[in-house]
Amino acid sequence: AMPAAVSSAASAPAHVLLICFPSQGHVNPMLRLAKRIASKGLLVTFSSVSSIGAKLAAAAGVTAGGDGSPVGRGRVRFDFLDDGEPPNPDLDSLMLHLATAGPPAFASQLARQAASGRPVSGVVANPFMPWATDVATDAGIPTAVLWVQSVAVFSLYYHHVHGLAEFPPEDDKAARFTLPGLPEMSAADVPSFLLPSNPFKLLADAIITQFRTLGRASWVLVNSFAELEADAAAALPGVGPPSPPELIPVGPLIEMEDGESGGEEVRGDMLKAEEECVEWLDAQPERSVVYASVGSVVVLSPAEVAEMAHGLASTGRPFLWVVRPETQPHLPDGFLEGEGKKGMVVAWSPQEKVLAHKATACFLTHCGWNSTLETVAAGVPVVAFPQWGDQCTDARFLVEELGMGVRLLRGGGSSAAAEAEAETEAQLTREAVRDAVEDAVAGPRAEEMRANAARWSKAAREAVAPGGSS
Ligand code: UDP
Repeated sequence: AMPAAVSSAASAPAHVLLICFPSQGHVNPMLRLAKRIASKGLLVTFSSVSSIGAKLAAAAGVTAGGDGSPVGRGRVRFDFLDDGEPPNPDLDSLMLHLATAGPPAFASQLARQAASGRPVSGVVANPFMPWATDVATDAGIPTAVLWVQSVAVFSLYYHHVHGLAEFPPEDDKAARFTLPGLPEMSAADVPSFLLPSNPFKLLADAIITQFRTLGRASWVLVNSFAELEADAAAALPGVGPPSPPELIPVGPLIEMEDGESGGEEVRGDMLKAEEECVEWLDAQPERSVVYASVGSVVVLSPAEVAEMAHGLASTGRPFLWVVRPETQPHLPDGFLEGEGKKGMVVAWSPQEKVLAHKATACFLTHCGWNSTLETVAAGVPVVAFPQWGDQCTDARFLVEELGMGVRLLRGGGSSAAAEAEAETEAQLTREAVRDAVEDAVAGPRAEEMRANAARWSKAAREAVAPGGSS
């Protein structure tokens, strides 16, 4: 329930504006939070940059302005920042562009809301855009930030930013370090943006800068739940000095159960989801399908796409594989008519429906935090294939801590040749794909992993049910 002071502001209805970093992995949790807030009876505006607005309009049919869609007793509207020309698509150019174009555009957006009779009473900002918190608090608007990664990742960043921990050298694979509330880790478990080999320097700067402005926000919400990360959360208050902010768990931010959302469904897809794949799943045997996706940002090399294709086909199992449009040309010629005929390839899936489907047996995932929470909530075991960033930490938790999956390693496979190769430049092989999938679905530990996944799914649902911990 909202504090009385917010809901009884007599002159204008309470209006919460969420400002979102322009990537799918941020849009999804932010929009789901927007819907939860709206369901409590508040007016909610979801904002991001105009280039994202155009994609959401094309893929999900959302329209900016107006009263928005009804959600529960409230409404979600869309309104976008006019940030001028979209930059080159690489992350560093984007960060630079946002840092200069963002603050004035956001300030004028807030002024525009007030001028149109909808003064903003609270902002939920995205910590990847540290300037958003500054603009909102400077305007005297109470501001929360939503941390869209795990508590463990927050803790690792926090230790690093404040010089409270040193990670072992990346090439020392045997070296381990320990931090309060976290399992013993190696450099491979650390978000890769914090390691010397990280190529995205401006993104890393922005991630580090967000910790300086985090203190200006009145609340820090986290897309996680108490039971999932109990140790990491319990240890956090003792970290420092300086003391970290309190993290308020609001997750897992998954689509709301039937009825709760009230009005029509508002989705935040930036590519149109191919709903036909749900019908295709309906026709597959129970717990038979391998679902594979590397999310919205990771791009596999042409050689890796080919190995993944042969590997998935060689399992002999039906598979549903998300291959984004720019990658589809790298599929082997005639793949789906030939060796891949038991599979379906889509450019974008309605992922939560896929994970919830009874035909889905396992999820070969890059371990983005949203995909991680979604598979936890659905109780689907994983084949973890992390690439960079926090995916490395998330994979560690899914596989070793939650016990709900296996890893797919480059240079994997049991042959001596594969091991020798792993020493030089590790490649993804079709054998490694096949073996990891078999392990997850039918190996000696498959049943145990399914049981663990089911247990975490129950905990996730309880956390967001009425009276739950989130
Ligand atoms: N997703 C989807 N369809 C797809 C692939 C991904 O709906 O075909 C969604 C997925 O459910 C998740 C988000 O896109 O909510 C991806 O976020 P994540 O943090 O897993 O990875 P990122 O894309 O940020 O690397």
